[in-house]
Amino acid sequence: MANQNRLYRIAEEPMKTLKISHIGIAVPRIEEQLAFYRDTLSLPFVGVEEVPSQQVRVAFFSVGESNIELLEPTTPESPIQKFLDANQGKARIHHIAYEVEDIEAALAAMKRQGLRLVDETPREGAGGVRIAFVHPRAAGGILTELCEHPKAP
Ligand code: ZN
Repeated sequence: MANQNRLYRIAEEPMKTLKISHIGIAVPRIEEQLAFYRDTLSLPFVGVEEVPSQQVRVAFFSVGESNIELLEPTTPESPIQKFLDANQGKARIHHIAYEVEDIEAALAAMKRQGLRLVDETPREGAGGVRIAFVHPRAAGGILTELCEHPKAP
């Protein structure tokens, strides 16, 4: 058995993906969606945050261990507004985010595979979370976000 295991062992560790962190949904207006997510689905409303660098306002609802992230554009130039425009202004899924144990290791593993990344290095997201986007062309057509949450001290 030990010998067999050695056959399959690879030089580099595979990335460790822990769970779906959140699903990002582009919406024209967060307020118009509250009735469904907060009242119909009864999801706990975590809060709203404006992210000026991305020209979006973001609302979070928790679903078990994961979240729903509603993204509302704050300017006509917002990438989220352009995304909505491409869908006749209607809400639709924008990205899926996976929580990983080590974002640097995950990005390194993807680079070794020659995958196209939007972010070559992690950037700071909300709440001390470090994030990086993988290009849809490298991820089956779906914009994919990796996030690493701060480790408990
Ligand atoms: Zn996200």
